[in-house]
Amino acid sequence: MFRSLRARLLVTYLLVGGLVLAIVGVGLFVFLVRSPLAVRQTYQRLEGVADGIAGRSGRLLRELQPEMRQQALERLDREAHMRAILLGPGGELLADSRLDEGPPPADVLAGLSPQREKVRGEYRDEGGRRWLYVARAINSEFAIVLIAQRPTIRVLGVLRDEFVTPLLQAGAVALVASILLAWLVSRWVAAPLQGVARAARSVAAGDYSNRPAPGGPSEVESLALAFNEMVDRVQGTQQAHKDFVANVSHELKTPLTSIQGFAQAILDGAAADPEAQRHAAQVIYDESDRLRRLVEDLLDLARMDAGQVAFKREPVDIGALLRGVVEKMSLPAAEKDVKLLVDLPALPTLIGDGDRLAQVFTNLVDNAVKHTPEGGKVALRADVEGGWISIHVDDTGPGIPPEQLSRIFERFYQVDKARPGGLGRGAGLGLAISSEIVQAHGGRLVAQSKLGRGSRFTVQLPIICADDRTMVRGG
Ligand code: ADP
Repeated sequence: MFRSLRARLLVTYLLVGGLVLAIVGVGLFVFLVRSPLAVRQTYQRLEGVADGIAGRSGRLLRELQPEMRQQALERLDREAHMRAILLGPGGELLADSRLDEGPPPADVLAGLSPQREKVRGEYRDEGGRRWLYVARAINSEFAIVLIAQRPTIRVLGVLRDEFVTPLLQAGAVALVASILLAWLVSRWVAAPLQGVARAARSVAAGDYSNRPAPGGPSEVESLALAFNEMVDRVQGTQQAHKDFVANVSHELKTPLTSIQGFAQAILDGAAADPEAQRHAAQVIYDESDRLRRLVEDLLDLARMDAGQVAFKREPVDIGALLRGVVEKMSLPAAEKDVKLLVDLPALPTLIGDGDRLAQVFTNLVDNAVKHTPEGGKVALRADVEGGWISIHVDDTGPGIPPEQLSRIFERFYQVDKARPGGLGRGAGLGLAISSEIVQAHGGRLVAQSKLGRGSRFTVQLPIICADDRTMVRGG
């Protein structure tokens, strides 16, 4: 029933309003019931009458017969609604307007006489009723005592007269204010929330264009921002997935087409002579080798993504490892007439996976040799600084355009697919794999390049990496 934000806010406001009114009502009621105001007013009334009598009745009283005095007091009682008692010089009771009620307690009367100028007080009669009295000396012979019942506040009457109506009025105002506030606040909170919900539904339906505008309270606003961020990521992942499938298909299709074409040539007899057949077989061999490497690289990346690659953690003599890579690459470099230079200081021993690190440097030197024209140079240098070892692979190749430099580590990204690379050309996965391996060692792989001058790939590795954290993707 109260599922909507608006209804819940309304109920909350009404409860709070009702509670406040109840607290204020009870507080006022208690104050009024306990207030001495009514008692004070009764005393004032008694004193006003007593002062009037004391001021002008001295002579008259002396001349009046006792019965007349009695009648005069009874008349006063009727008119002013108060008991009147006349006391003689010794404090003795001369007349009483309510003889039938029995005299006030003796101890009260004893304290009253014409000798006492002004007295006021309170007593309780035998029936338990409480009375207020005021006594005044009229002259040396008489004193008048006026008595009225102590006022008590009748709870129900007070409730009805003083509270119910104003409380009902305040309640009505609170109700209207609650409805208005609930409407305003729920609009403020619910409108942006509904925007997020609408956007979530359209994203679920495949439409990414409907984005919630950030607004409302900060919590709702950060929800909208987080939602937009999430949608961006989902979109990015979907795009990457599409690109990946397109790239894999493309990279598989090219060698498969070659293989099919040359196999067809052999079958058709188009490659009839032994030389042509040998060439066709060589192409089929090379292309299937390329396919095998592609599939291996893809599997490697998939396993790294899934955290399934167990990197070894063993001491690695990085100097020896680099010299081994150079030795292995010296033949292809020599074939291309590219000079392979090595300039290494004494390097510390690292903790890591030697085979995987050798894969990284082989890839970097291989790329450098591949992209360096004949007569060029590839140099391997290293320096140690601040707990890090940096290994640079420099070449004098064509360089990489600055706007593409940040993208070469993306999967399948190739600077220029038309660039010469021959059959050894990869599928744009080498640097992506190398970067993953270096990151798993707690390091990073960066590239710098000047167009027309050459490129520098730098592997930075932390020297002390014997703890588990360095092998991020370990195990
Ligand atoms: P591939 O296996 O196709 O060489 P990589 O991931 O190793 O892919 O390299 C990505 C891109 O970076 C390639 O297109 C390549 O042309 C370019 N690249 C890599 N190394 C160099 C280099 N030393 N000089 C110029 N371009 C390079």
